[in-house]
Amino acid sequence: MVDRGRQVDETAELRSVGRVVIKIGSSSVTTEDGEVDTGTISELSSQIAELLERGTEVVVVTSGAIAAGLSALGRRADRPSDPAVLQAVSAVGQHRLMRTWQEGLAPHGILAGQVLLAPLDFTNRGQYLHARGTLAELLKLGVVPVVNENDAVADEEIRFGDNDRLGALVAHLVGADLFVILTDTAGLLSGDPRFSSETTLIEEVVEIDHELERIAGGPGTPEGSGGMLSKLAAAKIATWSGVETVIADARRPGVVAAAVARSRGVGTVLKARRARLPARKLWIAFALRASGTVVVDEGARRALVNDGRSLLPAGVVKVQGEFVADDAVEIAGTDGTTFAKGLVRMASARAAEWVGSRSGDLPEELSGAVVHRDDLVILR
Ligand code: GLU
Repeated sequence: MVDRGRQVDETAELRSVGRVVIKIGSSSVTTEDGEVDTGTISELSSQIAELLERGTEVVVVTSGAIAAGLSALGRRADRPSDPAVLQAVSAVGQHRLMRTWQEGLAPHGILAGQVLLAPLDFTNRGQYLHARGTLAELLKLGVVPVVNENDAVADEEIRFGDNDRLGALVAHLVGADLFVILTDTAGLLSGDPRFSSETTLIEEVVEIDHELERIAGGPGTPEGSGGMLSKLAAAKIATWSGVETVIADARRPGVVAAAVARSRGVGTVLKARRARLPARKLWIAFALRASGTVVVDEGARRALVNDGRSLLPAGVVKVQGEFVADDAVEIAGTDGTTFAKGLVRMASARAAEWVGSRSGDLPEELSGAVVHRDDLVILR
């Protein structure tokens, strides 16, 4: 649902935000020559210092390691495609990026603390708690955590690949009040400005739906990896975690304070969902990679979506991919549209064997759910 005619919120200036996660994309922290943009980082650092002064805690999620590495190695013109080379390149760029952040914050007497995270840090509960503990300690020390994906060692197969999702998961991890995505456009636009002069800024989004995902479907810039669709996917994680999200232009003067105040026209404000998804369901929906798809019939789809039931073998039409019990799977209707995600209770071979069977006909050990309602998240 999109509300394009948002009114000025008179109370906006008074809103107090305890903790904010600010994500800045590669295209915003690098210059046209691919160098780390010291000017932008120093400007953002001043804005962050102002927030800290007002008692708001700030976590930065910054991209730019690969861009900075390519520029240092003189490889900007021929960006390598080999993931192993890009990982090595990130190692050259990450400390340069970090140094720029430290130099930006230092004049304000602020220390930056580097935290590099990989998807495994969100799927492994022990790692997750450690990461949360470290971030909490840094904030207690008055340090600004500066987070990036651990590009140099993250398993290429399961990398986040874009920092939008990482930022959203961090916002959830630290229990942020606000997630700000700073990018190189004014926010979410109603169309592609290259093709239409009618394009306007969508100022407020109450619920991320199909229409919005269609509008956002274009690719990103060469520097960044996350077009608008990836920003919207990230905003979905954050807003489903109960964290309001603002997408705004990194180069707009005073953007950080304006985003915190939700000043009119600052960018796109995406409202947090009232029904916060519990951490476990968020983890299933957004952190885990699906190993396969279970296609279900219309009756089962309705029972899952409308009645909050578990998925039984009788409703399964087809099983795609290979999985073992406790793996995450997507659940799709017969039209191929994924509408839920969950943890399966049986391996793909077993599930395929019993497709469509009534519970009474199944051997006792299989009479239960394919996906239990406690392990199931409806995605739309
Ligand atoms: N982690 C990557 C980097 O720092 C950026 C990923 C992205 O573009 O979001 O270069």
